[in-house]
Amino acid sequence: KRVEVGADQHGINPSLLDDRAVKVVKTLTDAGFEAYVVGGAVRDLLLGMVPKDFDVATNATPEQVKGLFRRAFIIGRRFRIVHVVFGRGREHEVIEVSTFRALMTESDAVEGNEKTSKRELEGKSHAVDASGRVLRDNVWGPQIEDAARRDFTVNAMYYEPARQMVVDYHGGLADARARVLRMIGDPETRYREDPVRIIRAARFAAKLGFELEAKTAAPVRASSRLLADVPASRLFDEMVKLLQTGHALASLASLKRLGLARGVFPVLDAVLTPDGSLPDGSRGAFVRLALQDTDRRVQEGLGVSPSFMLACMLWHEVQARWSQLRNDGEPPAPAMAQAIDAVFDARIGDISGRGKLATDMREIWMMQGRFERRTGSGPLSLIEQPRYRAAFDFLRLRADAGEADAALADWWEDFALGSDDDRQALLAEVR
Ligand code: ATP
Ligand code: MG
Repeated sequence: KRVEVGADQHGINPSLLDDRAVKVVKTLTDAGFEAYVVGGAVRDLLLGMVPKDFDVATNATPEQVKGLFRRAFIIGRRFRIVHVVFGRGREHEVIEVSTFRALMTESDAVEGNEKTSKRELEGKSHAVDASGRVLRDNVWGPQIEDAARRDFTVNAMYYEPARQMVVDYHGGLADARARVLRMIGDPETRYREDPVRIIRAARFAAKLGFELEAKTAAPVRASSRLLADVPASRLFDEMVKLLQTGHALASLASLKRLGLARGVFPVLDAVLTPDGSLPDGSRGAFVRLALQDTDRRVQEGLGVSPSFMLACMLWHEVQARWSQLRNDGEPPAPAMAQAIDAVFDARIGDISGRGKLATDMREIWMMQGRFERRTGSGPLSLIEQPRYRAAFDFLRLRADAGEADAALADWWEDFALGSDDDRQALLAEVR
C-alpha cells in the first residue's frame, strides 16, 4: 500500500537535502518522468543525520537518464545505474540514478541462466543461480515493485522534494521511529537471493544503533554459510564499508552479536579471538586504537585509506610470520618480504585493486624497521618517501598501543618538523 507522508509528519529538514540531487530529480520530472530521492539518504534525513551520498530513483531507463545530463555514465552489469557527475577533481560529486526495478517472478527464478542471454539482448534480465542467488537484476518495473525489492523497510522510502512528501510502502517511517531494522518480505528468502544482505544488516544495526526485528535476525546465523558463494571482491568491499564508514568498533560488536565475527572475513579472522573479540594486550589495543582513529577521521570528514586500515589489521600476523621465518634462518629483509606476501595472499586474496593496495601496505610495513635506524642519511631519505606520513602515523599508533617506544615516535616527529640544525642535533643525540 502506497502511503504519502507530509512534512508536518516526517519532519525532514529540507535544507539538509543536496542541491544537486534535487536538481537531478527536477530535470527528470521536468522531462515527464517520475523521480525521487531514495534509500539511505531518506532514512538518514528522517533520523536527522546528514546523508553521505544521495541516490535518485526514476522510471526513466538508464539511456533516457543519460540523455538528459551533460556528464552521465551508465555503469554496472549486475545492476546497471547511471552516474550523473557534477564538478571536477576533488570537489566532484556523483548522484547515482537507478531505474525502478521489477520484482522477480517465479518464472524468472525457474528459468535460470538459460534464457538470460536472450533477455539481456532485449535490455532486460534477471538471472538466478541454482541456490536462488540473484546474479543480474535489470528488469524495469513500477515504483511499488522497486520498493518491494529493496532490503530493509527503512531503506525503501522515497522523497519528493517539490512537495516535500515521503512515499512509504512498507512501514519504514514507523520502523525508523522505533529504531528497528526489518527485512521486507521473507528474510530467509531475501538472504538467499543476496547473502550480502546479512552483512548489511550488521552494518546498519551498527551505524544506526537499531535493533534487528526478531524475524529478520532469526535466519542470520544459518544463512551466513551462503556468504561462502559471494565473490571475494564483493565481500572485501563490504568489509571495507564495515570498517571505514565511521562505525568500525560498533560494526565489530554487531557482527559478534549476530555470530558473524569469525569465518566470514579472512581479515577479521586474522585479528579476532575465537569468540569474536579483540584480543587482550597490545595486539588488541593496537587494532582498537587504529579503528577508533579511523572512526574519528570519518566523523571529522578527513580522508581514510583502506591500505592504512588493512595494514593495521594484518600487522601482527605479518610480524608473527616474520619472526617464524627469522627463526628458520632467513635474513631480515627477505623474511619480511615473504611474510608480507604470505599474509596478503591468505587474507586479501585475488581482488581488483590488489596491486596498488599491496604496494601501499608493503611500504607502511617495510618502513617500520627503518624507523629503528637513525644514523647517516637514513632518516633524511625516509622522511622524503611519499608514504612517510602514513608509516609515521602507523608508528605513532604502535607507540600509543605500547608496542613501540613513544620516545622513538617523538624523535621522528621532531625530526620531520625540524630545521637543518634541529636535525643535526637530533642525529647527534642518538649517535
Ligand atoms: P549507506 O549509508 O551505507 O550508503 P544506503 O542505504 O544508501 O546506505 P547503499 O548500498 O548505498 O545503501 O544502497 C542504496 C539503496 O539501495 C539501499 O538503501 C537499498 O534500498 C538498496 N539496496 C542496496 N543494496 C541492496 C541489496 N543488496 N538488496 C536490496 N536492496 C539493496
Ligand atoms: Mg548510499
